[in-house]
Amino acid sequence: MERRDFSWSVSRHDTFESCRRKYYYSYYAAQEDAEIARLKRLSALPLWAGSVVHETIEAFLKERDAMPAEAEQKAIAEAAVHERMKADWHDSEAGSERFRLFEHEYEQEVSADDKKLAVATVRRCLRAFFRSAVLAEAFAAGRANWLSLEDLIGFELEGVPVFLRMDLAFRSRSGQVVIVDWKTGRSEGRFNAVQLAGYALYAAEQGWVARAEEIETELAYLAVPRHVRRRVSADMLAGARSFVVKSAARMRALLADPARNEARIDDFARIDRPQRCRRCNFRRLCFPRAEALVTAEARA
Ligand code: SF4
Repeated sequence: MERRDFSWSVSRHDTFESCRRKYYYSYYAAQEDAEIARLKRLSALPLWAGSVVHETIEAFLKERDAMPAEAEQKAIAEAAVHERMKADWHDSEAGSERFRLFEHEYEQEVSADDKKLAVATVRRCLRAFFRSAVLAEAFAAGRANWLSLEDLIGFELEGVPVFLRMDLAFRSRSGQVVIVDWKTGRSEGRFNAVQLAGYALYAAEQGWVARAEEIETELAYLAVPRHVRRRVSADMLAGARSFVVKSAARMRALLADPARNEARIDDFARIDRPQRCRRCNFRRLCFPRAEALVTAEARA
């Protein structure tokens, strides 16, 4: 497989901070080894619910210009549960390449309650999405004023390519640029502020606004539901710029050859956190014998 150039993303930063070895597997070994790439793609129950919600919202927004009636909203949510989730579950159990849950891969029992929770999260999030003020605001603005819909956006910061996925951005009727991030978890992620500032940097770079203050970001916690809207400032943009540049420099400092983006496994240490390793997609690589992880956990 062809080695890719170095680039920065929030999830890359998150992985780097959680475990250097996991970062190596995810961003280097996975490019060269199909089995490691497959492990990287494993989903897990909460993550799965989030993907179903995101993809349902994306498909809906790509097709529709107005709010559907309540019965249709319900039908969309039920199709997500009864068609999409059912097909995923079936494929995962069968060991498919298309979709595989961590729980099936590592033969972890999934209780009926855990399954019900994933299904309830999807229903709850989609109900909150249809009822959200920001969706009504986006429809009121009109599709002609939508600036981005689930686009993978990229820009450069001091020579570092930065990539982000933007859920929805539109110019509101009052002229503000509103950037929305749908969340299916209940609490603030560790790097939400950086992600939102990254969106704002992109908006400023694209010339969508003349001043940072013309941008508003909204974290839409659909499972709660709670919507946190913030106005962006020039200071936030400067803070995000410096965060990204420093984070990229720390990642590149561990490379055997930064110019060629080449890494050596031994330079990326494993963590000593058995609880975290138990939930890691790559645990089979670090702990080929399951009992080694159990022993480490008992010791911790
Ligand atoms: S199993 Fe643990 S040490 Fe290995 S990559 Fe995952 S988190 Fe890191």
